[in-house]
Amino acid sequence: MAVRAAVLPAIGAPLEITRIELPEPGPGQVRLRLAAAGVCHSDLSLTNGTMRVPVPAVLGHEGAGTVLAVGEGVGHVAPGDHVVLNWAPACGSCHACSLGEVWLCANALDGAANVHARTVDGVELHPGLNVAAFAEETVVAASCVLPLPEGVPLTDAALLGCAVLTGYGAIHHSAKVRPGETVAVFGAGGVGLATLQAARIAGAERIIAVDVSPAKEDLARAAGATDYVVASATTPREIRALTGKQGVDVSVECVGRAVTIRAAWESTRRGGRTTVVGIGGKEEQVTFNALEIFHWGRTLSGCVYGDCDPARDLPVLADHVRTGRLDLGALVTERIALDGIPAAFENMTAGKGGRSLVVF
Ligand SMILES: [Zn+2]
Ligand SMILES: [Zn+2]
Repeated sequence: MAVRAAVLPAIGAPLEITRIELPEPGPGQVRLRLAAAGVCHSDLSLTNGTMRVPVPAVLGHEGAGTVLAVGEGVGHVAPGDHVVLNWAPACGSCHACSLGEVWLCANALDGAANVHARTVDGVELHPGLNVAAFAEETVVAASCVLPLPEGVPLTDAALLGCAVLTGYGAIHHSAKVRPGETVAVFGAGGVGLATLQAARIAGAERIIAVDVSPAKEDLARAAGATDYVVASATTPREIRALTGKQGVDVSVECVGRAVTIRAAWESTRRGGRTTVVGIGGKEEQVTFNALEIFHWGRTLSGCVYGDCDPARDLPVLADHVRTGRLDLGALVTERIALDGIPAAFENMTAGKGGRSLVVF
């Protein structure tokens, strides 16, 4: 039976909401019905070519749903189970995996080259970032499916698969924020809001949210920000003023632009940590002079998928949800249908809102 899906026909082309046919799951595969899928900035980056996967593709990589059927050899989930999608499954055998750094797995996106479905007209489709979550149903490798721990609402659980793992991991694994530290978060979209919540959970004392839009202040404060700065050329000076002229212990950049990476760096105290979570293009050149690198003694680090091992971290996040420390619903700024995705992309380009959640 055909299901509806959001298909990217070619790089730069608008998304098409169309009907697709999925096969029954083969060995090592799982078929599931999506409950919800978050609209992530990386989906937009795939449509404009900043990030590339084989097309035509069904986009969507942040999802949760219910298992419909499993193929031969799949034992960790069964029909009826609630699951979260992991778009970067680790192969377990590459150099990064052998070091335990599964978020850097060299083969994580191999599945993107597969044909996982066809349009009803017979056009072969690739699964975007492995999981093709912008569809009523999908077929994925079993390694892309994680059992959802008890007590987490299924629709909101979609956000765990990308925004929340990334934001939590940026604070917990990459920057290793300690209680009492000061944190600045640049960008108050889905990942930025998740990062603010993670900073609050980590016990950060002062949490400064920075965004170009003054309209996101309430969202940011609800997520844990103690201060809100509307981004401008003087942002680093404002942040130093808020932190006894020192700058913050930790800056997390969730935008992926040279100007915000520079601002995050300049807002960090001498000896502090700057973590770049945002995914920018090659044209975003960031420059540093040799003297400032020495003088400031800061650490600048990249952060991939929050440096998370989803199988290890998901139960921890579920614990935070159950105790109310992590509020998934507060990250969602609108609940939309599949055909609302193009408008959600436009909002994202305009820097509006937090997370749009497609609810099926
Ligand atoms: Zn994402
Ligand atoms: Zn690997």
